[in-house]
Amino acid sequence: MKRTLAFIALITLSASSMSAQATEKDLARARKVLASSPLIDGHNDLAWAIREDSTAPMDVGAYDLRKHTHGHTDLERLKKGMIGAQFWSIYVPGESKDSGTSARIQLEQFDIAHRFIAMYPDRLQLALSAQDVRDAFKRGKVGSLLGMEGGHAIENSLGALRSYYQLGARYMTLTHNVTLDWADAALDSARHGGLTEFGKEVVREMNRLGMLVDLSHVSPAVMSDALDVTEAPVIFSHSNARALVDVPRNVPDSILRRLEKNGGVVMATFVPSFTSKQVADYEHEYEEWQRTARQRLGSDGRDELRREGQAWRAAHPQPSVTIVDAANQIEYMRKVAGIDHIGIGGDFDGISTTIKGLEDVSSYPALFAELAHRGWSDDDMKKLAGENVLRVLSKAEEVAARLQKTRAPSTKTIQQLDGKK
Ligand SMILES: [Zn+2]
Repeated sequence: MKRTLAFIALITLSASSMSAQATEKDLARARKVLASSPLIDGHNDLAWAIREDSTAPMDVGAYDLRKHTHGHTDLERLKKGMIGAQFWSIYVPGESKDSGTSARIQLEQFDIAHRFIAMYPDRLQLALSAQDVRDAFKRGKVGSLLGMEGGHAIENSLGALRSYYQLGARYMTLTHNVTLDWADAALDSARHGGLTEFGKEVVREMNRLGMLVDLSHVSPAVMSDALDVTEAPVIFSHSNARALVDVPRNVPDSILRRLEKNGGVVMATFVPSFTSKQVADYEHEYEEWQRTARQRLGSDGRDELRREGQAWRAAHPQPSVTIVDAANQIEYMRKVAGIDHIGIGGDFDGISTTIKGLEDVSSYPALFAELAHRGWSDDDMKKLAGENVLRVLSKAEEVAARLQKTRAPSTKTIQQLDGKK
């Protein structure tokens, strides 16, 4: 998640690393589990944080991961967080009205990610397959996978999609927050009622390539259509359960129940407003305030709107959301989707406020300690941490190998399939 209207209401919380109930014993067990089996996080926006850095934008060298960064991610904290592998997000905004810039920005983001991975060879290692992740983990390095956020970046071209696979992309979120020519976004108008024929062809081509279909950010109808079409397991790289927090970015139970048959995983995210109903209601209230303020101030009042927005937030502190809420989301999705169909996708460096106890990438052991305290077995914790996602990656590789024997790269166009000019 990234906000276009960035607000500076960063709530700095003390690095309380454990919930009240979890004990040192729980934490020791969590650490043992994460040392023996890779924790694979589904979504981290470090590449975008480097691009947008206020002092040295796009400067991979200046954003020194050997030091404590002002973001959520650096080498020391990745180690403390016991991250075995990370899907680094290759994000490009969908809101840009300037046509023809998506591909350039996308390529630059691949470049930034490849450069920061190469810059710390003793700690990070590019991963393009499930086996690569296991190899990196054995060597004590963070297996570095790449995932694209937003199908707008392929600019309606299956050739571009294939080229992004060659650059290392192993998942693509079909949309970000803007509805495309071929898929509806969760946070935008539903123009197609799901996937268009070209959208379905994108899914089929991703299956053929071995690129995971990521259904975070899409509308429920797109989730459903993609599940109908796909031959490989899907992922939700960073989403929570809509039954607990009714926001469009979360996943309805009817979809969660389909993961068992599909084989996919929903990766619980730490976005506060997707995790806690109180925070979601608070954000809704803020947006309502913002809507009226915008009408009152007009298009020239952007600076004033920002100032008043900060004042509003100062006068209305965000309700507290803790590691307990995050664990509740995970346990709920486990109940509905099943223990074999859950994972974790924190969205660090893509969120402007954080959950108490989950402030940055060092926090994962505390979350697993909370689950240990709730009676999770070591095997269940390993599945959540990474074994489920590794199974999905392996299965997608198998499906791709099978499809490549019988199916040539698709040369279909959106004009042919959807009749668009
Ligand atoms: Zn996102």
